[in-house]
Amino acid sequence: MTTQLHDATTAEAEPVSDADTAWQDDIRAGVRHVRDLAVLPLSPGERAAAQEAASRHKVRIPKSYLDLIDWEDPADPIRAQVIPSPDELVTGEGELDDPIGDHAFSPVPRLTHRHADRVLLFPTYQCAVYCRFCFRKESLTSIGRGYTREALGPALAYIASHPEIREVILTGGDPLSLPDKALSEIRARIEAIAHVRLMRIHTRVPVVLPSRITPGLIAALQGRLMITVVTHFNHPREITDATEAACRGLRQAGFVLLNQSVLLKGVNDTVEVQEELCRELMYRLGVKPYYLHHGDLARGMAHRRTTIAEGQALVGALRARLSGICNPVYVLDLPDGGGKVPIGPDYVEDRDGGNWRIRGQDGEVREYIEVVSQL
Ligand code: SF4
Repeated sequence: MTTQLHDATTAEAEPVSDADTAWQDDIRAGVRHVRDLAVLPLSPGERAAAQEAASRHKVRIPKSYLDLIDWEDPADPIRAQVIPSPDELVTGEGELDDPIGDHAFSPVPRLTHRHADRVLLFPTYQCAVYCRFCFRKESLTSIGRGYTREALGPALAYIASHPEIREVILTGGDPLSLPDKALSEIRARIEAIAHVRLMRIHTRVPVVLPSRITPGLIAALQGRLMITVVTHFNHPREITDATEAACRGLRQAGFVLLNQSVLLKGVNDTVEVQEELCRELMYRLGVKPYYLHHGDLARGMAHRRTTIAEGQALVGALRARLSGICNPVYVLDLPDGGGKVPIGPDYVEDRDGGNWRIRGQDGEVREYIEVVSQL
């Protein structure tokens, strides 16, 4: 019997070859249920609290990702991302169930249309791993539905009737947790809409379940559309031989690879960790650091959020150390659907008409006088 991540009662089953099933073993051997936490080396108090937190936001950890945890270190950055913490049970004032306003911009089920030229499409609300910091945890918990062909019908009809849409962003849930057949079908249905040019896939799979990046999966995604895969590495310890091979496979298929990280207190909020992460992403994986997200207002996440001032100081230091291609843009996804805005440090000190005073990377302020043609 094979293990499918998606909801087996609704999604179409698909036979897979032996060569393509290592990832299923990885899922089977990992944490799949709250009860699986019992075998982890947690103290009785930690285990009880973790089980309560896991009952609010699902738990799933593939074995290979679990094996990256150093259990001797209670502050281990891999552990912090996936083992439920009692701190998640504390809801801070101002925290939100829908931190970036997905629902207010959802004209039909499984689609968010916030910006004219692109939409978010949610083929599934299931993931290969459940990250404790997830800003869509309420959708994953309360909806929990897998993929069906019918469920995407209204969303695809909406895209077909809006010629201004150029990009379709598959998100979720994790789209790459779906079987190849479902991915191929989704890609073909989007491809059939002539005005769509690019399909973007937001996924944690290359990080937490790299064995899922198989030739079959890559073939399922190849077609007319330009494909961009946006990975989600948060810490350099997530960069391994296996994740390197997964990214190489995606790159060699001709896909553009970008990474977005979330700034997480106690995980990746130092200049040293971010510097190593960004360098290894670019130099070892060939993945361009794209966004560094400031922590949004997801419920129960106050213990992992930094202040914006701390984030600005961090990215200011990064900018001085890293080449432009290795630098991510520090952004905040605003509540109520305001969208992502850059919130990095401001280098402009002063301006008088066309005379600007701008701080350089050495800290010195220099003048720049605009010289433009008056024609
Ligand atoms: S994989 Fe993405 S959608 Fe799923 S829990 Fe993690 S951050 Fe959330």
